[in-house]
Amino acid sequence: MTEPTPRTRKLDLDTISRLSMVRPGDSAEGLAEVQRYLRSYGYLRRADYTPDQLDQPTSDALYKYQERHGLSSSGAFDNPTREEMTQSRCAMPDMRNGVAFATACAWDRRTLTFAFDSGTDDVPGAAEIDAVRAAFATWAAAAPLTFTEVSVGQNPDIRIGWRPATDPDLSMVGGTLAHADFPPGCSVVTNTLPKPVHFDDSEHTWSVGAQPGAFDVETVALHEIGHILGLAHSSVPGAVMFPTVRPDFTLRALTADDLAAIDALYALPWRDIGHANNVVAMAGLNGKLYCATSDNQLWMRDPVGWEVDWVAIGHANNVVAMAGLNGKLFCATSDNRLWIRDPFPWEVDWTDIGHAATVVAMAALNGKLFCATADSNLWMRDPSPWEVNWTDIGHANNAVGMAGLSGKLFCATADGNLWMRDPSPWEVDWTDVGHANNVVAMDAVNGSLFCATSDSRLWMRPPGI
Ligand SMILES: [Zn+2]
Ligand SMILES: [Zn+2]
Repeated sequence: MTEPTPRTRKLDLDTISRLSMVRPGDSAEGLAEVQRYLRSYGYLRRADYTPDQLDQPTSDALYKYQERHGLSSSGAFDNPTREEMTQSRCAMPDMRNGVAFATACAWDRRTLTFAFDSGTDDVPGAAEIDAVRAAFATWAAAAPLTFTEVSVGQNPDIRIGWRPATDPDLSMVGGTLAHADFPPGCSVVTNTLPKPVHFDDSEHTWSVGAQPGAFDVETVALHEIGHILGLAHSSVPGAVMFPTVRPDFTLRALTADDLAAIDALYALPWRDIGHANNVVAMAGLNGKLYCATSDNQLWMRDPVGWEVDWVAIGHANNVVAMAGLNGKLFCATSDNRLWIRDPFPWEVDWTDIGHAATVVAMAALNGKLFCATADSNLWMRDPSPWEVNWTDIGHANNAVGMAGLSGKLFCATADGNLWMRDPSPWEVDWTDVGHANNVVAMDAVNGSLFCATSDSRLWMRPPGI
């Protein structure tokens, strides 16, 4: 275990706020505090500079700081730099030995537990706990990750609490609000579990929502959980992973920059697992894959023991989309009908159960059927009772395949992207979770996504998404 190295003396932001313009080559009393600031966040090494002198190493460090914070990069200590340095911020460093965290790492698993050890008296009731839970849910909706709350006695992976600023594992004395750690393998605070998410409870006021002089718990929690998942600080102003945050402010949604970062860490590749010729629709049901082909055949394949090839099990005429739900196969046909078939026994044929107009993709999830239509709408239907018709629940543009997996809908689009959407609440839109090129049909079985592509291959994306 690495011993923590808390900063021993508080960063004196008052001194920094009183300092006026300092140009490269100049000296100024109080500039040493700016140099300590740059050192604290990984921009400058102690041995490299002369205190109170804006020498070359200090100017280089200021340049990197300005670049990362979206300020005009001059290498001088100027007004915008002073303003940025005196903002409240996260205690985690931006750089390590002057180098950006290019190699923040991912967890080696996709299911993590978390526990709360303390809250804050700044917020009435337990609203701060709910705010942190909401931040976990936001990350879970954006990545193939599952977070389960446990008690502190159940060996959580992540332990959350409000601490005095003189926090033993990483001091938050000074302008810092909170800290976390990176995943095992790239830790900066501790090499053992649980990983900390610690909020400074002595020098800052916490709120739920934007309040003057206070910091929104969910906003800061979303940022700190990003570190726990392996994201470093972003240099894109406005991103959740940007290192500074204002009081009286909320940022509770991930930005494109944050989503690209989590995708880079957790998006999984597809594996080629065999052939799938002329497929037009695919469904997973009872641990098996089914597909309909353009020659009107229905096929079954057991994904356990891939040496077993597709077995013809009957006909499926003019199918455009297929799904497996409640032990039955469902298909939509080009004449706009919806059909159901019980795969056991096979002599029972398809039964017409209603209409399904211009369907391009279909999936089953949480006991309901979902379909995307040629007019870019997404529809949901409860298969029992059948008198309940399709309900329009949003958009699904250019869908070519759709699957339900782990409580989420996945959809492949004609532009080669893979999207994920949490069906509740419906206001949450599709999130880009990787690529899926040339897909003609998709579904899920046994915790994995499967797709058939236009070059007649069958692909699997391993469990975890
Ligand atoms: Zn941070
Ligand atoms: Zn701590």
